[in-house]
Amino acid sequence: MGLTVKINLTSDFQVFVKNIYKNHAFVSGNKLHKLKYNIIEAKNQKKRTLLTFGGAYSNHIAAVAAAGNIFGFETIGVVRGEELKNKINGNPTLSFAKQQGMQFQFISRDEFRNKGSKLFIENLELQFGDFYLIPEGGTNKLAVKGCEEILEEGDEVYDYICCPVGTGGTISGIINASFPHQKILGFPALKGDFLQEEITKFTTKTNWELITDYHFGGYAKANEVLIRFINTFKEEHKIPLDPVYTGKMLYGIQDLIAKDFFPKQSKILIIHTGGLQGIEGMNTVLKKKNLPLIQ
Ligand SMILES: *Cc1c(COP(=O)(O)O)cnc(C)c1O
Repeated sequence: MGLTVKINLTSDFQVFVKNIYKNHAFVSGNKLHKLKYNIIEAKNQKKRTLLTFGGAYSNHIAAVAAAGNIFGFETIGVVRGEELKNKINGNPTLSFAKQQGMQFQFISRDEFRNKGSKLFIENLELQFGDFYLIPEGGTNKLAVKGCEEILEEGDEVYDYICCPVGTGGTISGIINASFPHQKILGFPALKGDFLQEEITKFTTKTNWELITDYHFGGYAKANEVLIRFINTFKEEHKIPLDPVYTGKMLYGIQDLIAKDFFPKQSKILIIHTGGLQGIEGMNTVLKKKNLPLIQ
């Protein structure tokens, strides 16, 4: 409740944003929820090292590095892209993770695709010793359990709850914690229809729907329209959005409002999952492409 603010998107109904990105400075937004019970489990198993996977500007990599530093774990990040090895200093996310004590293993895109295989994990164990493995994006049963705590007492008043989707863990927790009269709308940040199935692994409820029209060409893809939208939104509502997840979701929500998707008098709750650490990295990419920067 404390992080929820009302915003003025339309006069037809009420829209609120739950700014869970304000829950912690470094392990923020949904990533704090996703890591909570995994950290507890790693402690229970007496593990000393956390190992996980991610891309160049991954919010998850940044969050695991910071969480490891706070809770006393060594951290290892297996990162997609061998070429990044010599570019850590020019990459805000990897520099931050390194500063938090994370060690990196840079691998090719091909290797990264096979990272779930038994052989690959065994090789990592030979190299790094025993570790607690957190999957890419951090989604597992314990992560979903943590995300069930995103909704709080009082949130039953909303008719719609909107949430960005990457691997589907966050929305699964929200669905599990929702009431039957509520509809959960997920806005995938990437192309592909595997997400529908992923989410049904973690929830048996059916009061949800994926809105697949607002991925802007795929994961971490951005264009001038999206960037200008993010900048205008921040100016008007004093809420910063990230380009990978929340920016695309809010663009989608505004478009749906314009298309009369929501019945009049609806009460909508938007989950601002965070991701703001990724803005700096995205700006380095935008600059090279001569696109406007995120302010
Ligand atoms: C990781 C992330 C998501 C996606 O969460 P999933 O549980 O993978 O669906 C959404 N928003 C932000 C800001 C994220 O960092």
